[in-house]
Amino acid sequence: MFFFVRNHQSLAWLLRLFNPSSLAIALVSVLSVLSLCLMRADSRAAWRLTDDSKLLVTESKLREQIFHALDAAAKAGTDPHISHFQVRAATAFEKDGVDHVVVGGNTEYDVPEAIHAEPSLLNHVTALYGADATRHSVRFIAFYAQRCGGSASCGDCRDYQLAATDSEHLLVACGQVSDRSVHVTRFTDQIVCERNFPVVEAQKIPLSAGDLDRLVRAAQQARQGGVTLFTNGHNTGAAALSSRDQIYRAAGADDAAFHYRYPIGGVLQQAATERDYFMRAILITGAEGEWPRVSYRDRQYGYEGSSFNQQVGKPPIVLILSNGQGQFRMTTFEAALPKAFSTAAFMPEAVKNFLETHRLSNSAGRE
Ligand SMILES: [Zn+2]
Repeated sequence: MFFFVRNHQSLAWLLRLFNPSSLAIALVSVLSVLSLCLMRADSRAAWRLTDDSKLLVTESKLREQIFHALDAAAKAGTDPHISHFQVRAATAFEKDGVDHVVVGGNTEYDVPEAIHAEPSLLNHVTALYGADATRHSVRFIAFYAQRCGGSASCGDCRDYQLAATDSEHLLVACGQVSDRSVHVTRFTDQIVCERNFPVVEAQKIPLSAGDLDRLVRAAQQARQGGVTLFTNGHNTGAAALSSRDQIYRAAGADDAAFHYRYPIGGVLQQAATERDYFMRAILITGAEGEWPRVSYRDRQYGYEGSSFNQQVGKPPIVLILSNGQGQFRMTTFEAALPKAFSTAAFMPEAVKNFLETHRLSNSAGRE
């Protein structure tokens, strides 16, 4: 306007051309067209793969399936009335020449417990199309998220995806609402097999020979117990050494409802009961001569425990595997559960305050 109205003559000409009422009508018309264009642009706002994601999703059909799944996930129902953290998931796949889209969402209850979005979704696929579809037809899980951060599935959901899907080829797609970018990664990025835990000589483990021996014996004794009515060959024993020099031990326990109690979870719960929150090391042992497995759910318990250490400036918990014949593998829960999340990450001040008000020092003041 500044450019066109350079003098009064021009202004008078403009006013003759547009009297006030016609100007108002024109203004309303322009605004209407503008808002219509914006609405169309919004409804057509397309998902787009990031450059890295394009390398993992090269088929146009798979790309469209991911985008359709994200649109469906946006409408997935959830009930996270404790955490208020919604996790909306979906997948899309073709089975017998027919396209399907299935959704899942998290729900929470009581103490707190939760049904997470991943098992919700995969169980939904199984219920509708069979376990074979979950294993062979599902190629990705898409998450509709306000922000795509660095966190991946919790340990238990990793166990479930390993068991139920073609996890070697499974993709994880996170659709970020704010800019419609889609970040695709491999599910296997979340997995670290025990055989990749470094083998280490006993002398290199940052414990005295006496403490290491105590841990091995405690874990082996623990493994003699537990409840193994349904557990096939995966029974392990765990022992933890706390910074107060206490040893805790536990074995796995199954039950008819299949609410398995895990050994690392067991030792950490015993220690927490004694207000002993900082573990120096946790050792796992299985059948003699074999390397024990450590479930991802148990790694989650260990990771949360290690986050307490980090909250107060202590080193992470050392995770040690023993084959019962004097050989060891050593790592940390941080390395064994990549892209993990913990309460300390969500609520650092609450965890700090909790530890300050709950931890006990021993009589010598050591921790
Ligand atoms: Zn989960």
